[in-house]
Amino acid sequence: METSPGGRGLVLVVEDEPAIVDLIGLYLRRDGFSVLTAAEGSAALELVRRHRPVAVVLDVGLPGLDGIEVCRRLRADDDWTPVLFVTARDDEVDRVLGLEIGADDYVVKPFSPRELMARLRTVLRRGTGPAPGPLVLGRVRVDTVTRRVLVDDDEVALTATEFALLAHLARYPGRVFSREQLLSSVWGYAAHAGTRTVDVHVAQLRGKLGGDCPIRTVRGVGYAAEVGR
Ligand code: CA
Repeated sequence: METSPGGRGLVLVVEDEPAIVDLIGLYLRRDGFSVLTAAEGSAALELVRRHRPVAVVLDVGLPGLDGIEVCRRLRADDDWTPVLFVTARDDEVDRVLGLEIGADDYVVKPFSPRELMARLRTVLRRGTGPAPGPLVLGRVRVDTVTRRVLVDDDEVALTATEFALLAHLARYPGRVFSREQLLSSVWGYAAHAGTRTVDVHVAQLRGKLGGDCPIRTVRGVGYAAEVGR
């Protein structure tokens, strides 16, 4: 564990490979962040609780508690500190995306430090900004303050990305977004993920919200949130 001064907030880097910790730390400090590090999961949980970092860069493959379990325990504590996962293999990506643990984004090793910093900035930006009241689309209420989605009075559990996609569409009811626009606004990058990612997340939202899902497919263009249903 180490700390250093930085004006943009404290980022916790959880990674058991010292060379990668050094590399990430170097770029974070260069960007004006303070850096705290942990090499295993239980230490990471304690540091998040004690130091309240603005974000966690979290390796999936850790000794003891792995990164996915660390994130799951944070969310179970209702701790929504933004998490940027670092994964080593495709099957880890599948685990990160398939589990509903509120992963905000991920990079795959080997990643470029520039890519990691770009993702981190996006993850941080997504968590800030003005907080409008609940957005109401038919029977669906999207509360961007508590990050809860209700159908009538029943809460529907969404992943962080599903929530971000639904909230983005709901903020601009009726407006049609292309898949590329959604990738860039919700995921924060366009080059890495294919537009199919958007379709997959829309399908997941429809699966969870059923007939109440306010997302409409606009053939040949993309998606829009319907106002009145
Ligand atoms: Ca590792």
